Amino acid sequence: MTKNDLAFDRQHIWHPYTSFANPLPVYPVARAEGCELILEDGTRLVDGMSSWWAAIHGYNHPQLNDAVTQQLQRMSHVMFGGITHQPAIQLSRALLDIVPNGLTKVFLADSGSVAVEVAIKMAVQYWFSRNLSAKNRLATIRGGYHGDTFAAMSVCDPVNGMHSLFKGSLREQLFAPIPNLSPEDAWQPEALEPLANLLKNHHHELAALILEPIVQGAGGMRFYHPEYLRGARQLCDKYQVLLIADEIATGFGRTGKLFACEHADVTPDIICLGKALTGGYMTQAAVLTSDEVANTISHGPAGGTFMHGPTFMGNPLACAVAVASLELLLKSPWQQRVASIHAQLTEALAEARQFKGVADVRCFGAIGVIEMREPVDVAAAQRVCVENGVWIRPFGKLIYVMPPFIISSAQLSKITQTMKQLAQQA
Ligand SMILES: *Cc1c(COP(=O)(O)O)cnc(C)c1O
Repeated sequence: MTKNDLAFDRQHIWHPYTSFANPLPVYPVARAEGCELILEDGTRLVDGMSSWWAAIHGYNHPQLNDAVTQQLQRMSHVMFGGITHQPAIQLSRALLDIVPNGLTKVFLADSGSVAVEVAIKMAVQYWFSRNLSAKNRLATIRGGYHGDTFAAMSVCDPVNGMHSLFKGSLREQLFAPIPNLSPEDAWQPEALEPLANLLKNHHHELAALILEPIVQGAGGMRFYHPEYLRGARQLCDKYQVLLIADEIATGFGRTGKLFACEHADVTPDIICLGKALTGGYMTQAAVLTSDEVANTISHGPAGGTFMHGPTFMGNPLACAVAVASLELLLKSPWQQRVASIHAQLTEALAEARQFKGVADVRCFGAIGVIEMREPVDVAAAQRVCVENGVWIRPFGKLIYVMPPFIISSAQLSKITQTMKQLAQQA
């Protein structure tokens, strides 16, 4: 890559959450393999981010490559309207085998945000089909992140999600406070009161409660008590509000269970999956729901059609690699891997609690977080990371990682050393 290429990139290409005025530097990656990103100048970086929760098996995996290559020889894409194919059927079968009991119907969407749109649309259309069209708003909890499209944005944390910027374009939803008990705290039933009051006062206008089970990801990397989730399920039943579990970040083992809902033995009415679904190979998401929701919509006054159908719905390449990724995951000792990543993160990061700039250190499943008192200087932090041969991308006050499950203990050590160095320097 020439200086010219980088100048072009800076002038013309939007990167995630950036401004053209003084954008953060970007690092040119030439290849990736195993747990490493390899820069154009040959620098190897141990990846702490799994490309935003997705690359759980690492990069350039022979079995995943093979799945894509084989599917490519047959067809990369065909429309899903009036057509079906083995990759979509295999993937849907594989998903129904592992998701919480009671979820029976699959909608293949093209990205996480679209999956959230689809889930919300299902919930709204469900109540419409039951002649309760007043039930069309959403409840959620603060500190959440559900994607960047408009309906998804409306249930993101109002401050983090910059709702003020889009006032007037965003539906105003109802927010419960961030759950105040973490998984290690002793459970106190009062912790559910604010959510209980919200549902009690607003259930007549609520289609669904949407939340990230146990782990709030991009909205702040917080972990909350499984009893809160169990209680939320009971409240939804009591007040006739659907429960949408956004497991786009938590799905496929990251929290130590295949799905975070399992920590509370809860089956949502609708679940959203994405990110690690294809092992990080390409964009694909899935929304699964119950017979009750699907059949109600299907016999509803809207002629029974569910009103969504992306052009690239059920993309065969993405389905094929997702099938291979699931096989790989289920055949691997993923529980042990996640448990040992957890143990190592917990032990290695504990020391950072004493650093004066550190507000909190927390780990859950294969996720490690150092929360600083002040926002992290991302450009400076990334320079240090790259010098150390590590890839971490802090945001806000958070220095956090969720490495590929196949990371070695030595590689993870490199990551935790760098996290501590960043935290100590601040
Ligand atoms: C990343 C994420 C999304 C959005 O997924 P995209 O594929 O980026 O659109 C939605 N919900 C959660 C919990 C996520 O972590």
